Amino acid sequence: DLITDNSDLIELDFLLTPDEIALRDSVRSFVDAEIRPNIAGWFEKAQFPVELIPEMAKLGLLGMHLTGYGCPGKSSVQYGLAALELEAGDSGLRTFVSVQGSLAMAAIYKHGSEEQKSEWLPGMAAGTTIGCFGLTEPDSGSDPASMKTFARRDGDDWVISGHKRWIGLGTIAQVAIVWAMTDEGVRGFIVPTNARGFEVQLIEQKLSMRASIQTELILSDVRLPSTALLPKATGLRGPFECLNEARYGIAWGVMGAARDSFESALAYSKTRTPFDRPLAGFQLTQQKLVDMAVEINKGTLLALHLGRLKDAGRLQPHQISLGKLSNTREAIKIAREARTILGGNGITLDHSPLRHANNLESVRTYEGTDEIHTLVLGQHITGISAFR
Ligand code: FAD
Repeated sequence: DLITDNSDLIELDFLLTPDEIALRDSVRSFVDAEIRPNIAGWFEKAQFPVELIPEMAKLGLLGMHLTGYGCPGKSSVQYGLAALELEAGDSGLRTFVSVQGSLAMAAIYKHGSEEQKSEWLPGMAAGTTIGCFGLTEPDSGSDPASMKTFARRDGDDWVISGHKRWIGLGTIAQVAIVWAMTDEGVRGFIVPTNARGFEVQLIEQKLSMRASIQTELILSDVRLPSTALLPKATGLRGPFECLNEARYGIAWGVMGAARDSFESALAYSKTRTPFDRPLAGFQLTQQKLVDMAVEINKGTLLALHLGRLKDAGRLQPHQISLGKLSNTREAIKIAREARTILGGNGITLDHSPLRHANNLESVRTYEGTDEIHTLVLGQHITGISAFR
């Protein structure tokens, strides 16, 4: 059965077009049929379901809001709605779509040459080529300007050495976008993962994002032709423009994890009968459920507003920070509160809220931590940078 939107207090569909509703419903059906029945097992076994990639490609989820080069060409609002429905299944599945579409494909789309776009994007949209995006390093996360990975010129070639950490999809990727310091500042490179000197290691024993792949990339004198350089990305603006795409999707996605946590707690509270009455009938429980629903409505409205701004070409980076910070912060609170309603049963994988809460620990850290987005907003409001 399709889950119902018990959290919807504002008739959100009134603000959506028929095309947007149709797309949202098709992704929701996919999640209900393919993800929901299997996610507990994947999470427990720390398995990313690669077998679902072709279907996600068919649904138009890869490079969804990019146009041309075989990409689906959907709107930013449609992309957001898809992210929300995917993350109602699991943040790990939404992360796959973010890394492939908003990071790896967006890097080539925004900063690549015509030849690079034609070579890589059609296969990536079809899901036959997987991409990853290597910015973070063991000692360089929130402060990417401190990266140590270096690309030096050798004749017409580039030679890259360095170490990237926390890189999504590394073990299944055919291509890596690697950001490296050069004599002329940070530049981006398209690196085939079978290049000599390129090694990938899986990060294991995670307590979060278990149905998702994160890796280390180790580059030892990887030699690339001059055509590997992304010509239009100079300085940190290059990776930041891609991160903004992914952060926008997160502002939507986390509301899916919140909604699913709420639905799970609501259903349970109607059937559990402590003290001989439904748990949902106690005022303390209703307070929790109402607080969750209020924040889900506010957060989803905010995401939709940001999406309309984005489709109108008006979305500003500080507005993305507002959506990413606020919606992730509220989603993790909702997931944890939902878990309390489930009592002891809530600590098993039979129920989604604690899985969502654990995943959201990653989401509040990647794509700019809570603290970094707070400082972005602080700088916007005061005109004073407090970063260092
Ligand atoms: P740090 O930057 O070391 O931060 C540690 C703490 O210090 C945080 O609380 C932070 O907010 C705080 N802090 C830092 N600076 C300040 C300051 N000025 N003021 C106050 N507090 C501050 N990276 C990629 O490149 N590609 C990926 O595909 C990718 N996927 C990821 C997937 C997962 C599941 C995770 C967990 C991470 C992923 N990352 C990826 C890395 C992610 O972007 C970084 O973890 C993130 O940028 C934070 O960096 P860090 O972990 O080094 O923490």
